[in-house]
Amino acid sequence: MSSGRVLVVEDNERNMELVRAVLEHAGYEVRAAGTAEEGVTDAVRDPPDLVLMDLQLPGQDGVSGLQALRADPATRDVPVVALTALAMPEDRARVEGAGFDGYWEKPISVRDLPHQVHAAIDRGRQTT
Ligand SMILES: [Mg+2]
Repeated sequence: MSSGRVLVVEDNERNMELVRAVLEHAGYEVRAAGTAEEGVTDAVRDPPDLVLMDLQLPGQDGVSGLQALRADPATRDVPVVALTALAMPEDRARVEGAGFDGYWEKPISVRDLPHQVHAAIDRGRQTT
């Protein structure tokens, strides 16, 4: 049995491969999507235990992706953590008000990521 199923929505291939390698090594089942639209479709079809959502994506951004997940009964309660690249002062209020279950700053910490993911999945299980 895997430690949990994580959907990673990230358009940067190097970040994606890093996150995938670290989480798979820690026993997680990892699914990848390069756009918010793709990620939402994938999550609705088969809801994961956690979504890691890059904010800056081609097409819909991560906030729109979160809203789409919250709007669908299949994924309404799935925890969604934002991966934030840089300080975006003009977007900050929108991002903070969006209601993500966490905001993790990139670059991600290879050492901390498995623990962060474990904690986020645990919190999700307690609240649903
Ligand atoms: Mg990006």
